[in-house]
Amino acid sequence: MSSRFNYDVIIAGASIAGSTLALLLSKENLDVALIDMKSREKIGEKVCGDGISASYFEKLGIPKPSGAELACVIRASDVIAPDREHILTVEGLGYTIDRWHLNQRFVRDAEKRGVHLLDSTLVMHPIVEGGEVRGVKVKDMRSGEEKELRAKVTVDATGCAAVLRKRLPESMLIENSIERFDVAAAYREIVMSDEDYPWPSDKIYIYLSHRFAPGGYTWIFPKGKNVANIGLGIQPLPNAPKLIELLEKFKRFWDIKVSKILHAGGGVVPVRRALSQLVTNGLMIVGDAASQANPLHGGGMGQAMSAAKLAADVITEGIEANRVLSKEDLWSYAVRYMRKDGAKNAALEIIRLLLQGMPDDEINFIIEKKIVSGEELLAIESSSKESEAVWRKILRMVLTRKIRLIGRLKTARDLYYKIHKHFQNYPEKPSEIISWHEKTLQIISEARRKLWKNPLEHTFYK
Ligand SMILES: Cc1cc2nc3c(=O)[nH]c(=O)nc-3n(C[C@H](O)[C@H](O)[C@H](O)COP(=O)(O)OP(=O)(O)OC[C@H]3O[C@@H](n4cnc5c(N)ncnc54)[C@H](O)[C@@H]3O)c2cc1C
Repeated sequence: MSSRFNYDVIIAGASIAGSTLALLLSKENLDVALIDMKSREKIGEKVCGDGISASYFEKLGIPKPSGAELACVIRASDVIAPDREHILTVEGLGYTIDRWHLNQRFVRDAEKRGVHLLDSTLVMHPIVEGGEVRGVKVKDMRSGEEKELRAKVTVDATGCAAVLRKRLPESMLIENSIERFDVAAAYREIVMSDEDYPWPSDKIYIYLSHRFAPGGYTWIFPKGKNVANIGLGIQPLPNAPKLIELLEKFKRFWDIKVSKILHAGGGVVPVRRALSQLVTNGLMIVGDAASQANPLHGGGMGQAMSAAKLAADVITEGIEANRVLSKEDLWSYAVRYMRKDGAKNAALEIIRLLLQGMPDDEINFIIEKKIVSGEELLAIESSSKESEAVWRKILRMVLTRKIRLIGRLKTARDLYYKIHKHFQNYPEKPSEIISWHEKTLQIISEARRKLWKNPLEHTFYK
């Protein structure tokens, strides 16, 4: 490596996105720096629902959670209607995990293979010179020393803080901010009871009701027989009730016994399509910093791991060059991401807007009348070929029963496919990004106008 560079790759952020990327790159014999402002023993401490599908580990060839990393093996998710009587069960293997233990394993394994961890190190801003990102300015939080670190590729994996993304010049065409309208504000408690909880611990429970989580949902994710991760995510609209009060109300309504709160905390997750541009000269963006979490449920760990794999592949293909990798060199990361996971997530943003616009009684109707089954929901979530037949069935079933819903469902179906196709046509070259981005905004603004209604106005809010 030339002395112009301290490293081949600098990864800012050592949580799930950054540590997965470091782990994957460590197998490629590259000079990699993994930087986090947290101290070594705190990396991976993140407020989370702690639920993740097993598929991501299988896909990436990363050993699945075990031992202290694993809380419960999950076989299915119960999506519970606002009336609490009707349930939609979605089968699928997953885990509730101890995030800290899992993240610590990723970092440990990456370090063993030569990744250089700089913990307690604040990433201050990108070094932008000659129209390219050439590294980062950092501050050692123990000594106060500031220095510049340079690399052929710099990766922003700093989550919602998006420390590098937010400090790029406008000319790089990367969206600096995510609208408040498009994030979920979330709060959760890890609770313990003296008695075993009444629910089976091989399922997770998602309760849909704008009354308890306007524009989002409340969850119970078992972490053992008498321990659970209980929380909620809402759309943070002006006048939205306080998250802690909503959770208290939920616990009372569900009669959830709590003898001890083991941990409590909140955070935000982006719940929209990914940024239109995921790379620029010298820089890639991965995980929450790139808005890659699932817009329907805010799950972002697996999504970040998948995106890290794509980023690792593209870095490995281009890193031999002795220069900062250009936007063109890195572009295929965006193309590969957008045409698959990006397209799915964009389609799910449409479903999110539809659900945020649906009063509780319509959600009751969909679940009670079995308008959609668990398997069919998965087909829609994954935008699989079967999704077309599912949409046809939904519209047929609704047509005769709930006329006022049919128009919105048809619009949602059309926009779902429109945006999915649009993302599958993500430009092959950076030069076409502006018109592609404008079309994205047009579809989204149509969806907001036609589907979304203020969730705070749906129910008897008090
Ligand atoms: C309450 C809640 C519940 C959730 N539940 C789930 C769930 O059940 N399942 C799921 O899959 N997802 C869930 N998510 C979403 C999930 O947590 C995120 O999508 C995921 O953590 C994104 O990973 P990331 O690595 O991109 O970012 P993060 O996990 O946010 O990590 C960012 C890292 O960057 C570091 N960093 C930030 N700024 C700097 C800086 N200036 N210098 C150096 N380092 C910096 C941070 O210390 C951190 O380690 C939940 C989120 C919340 C808030």
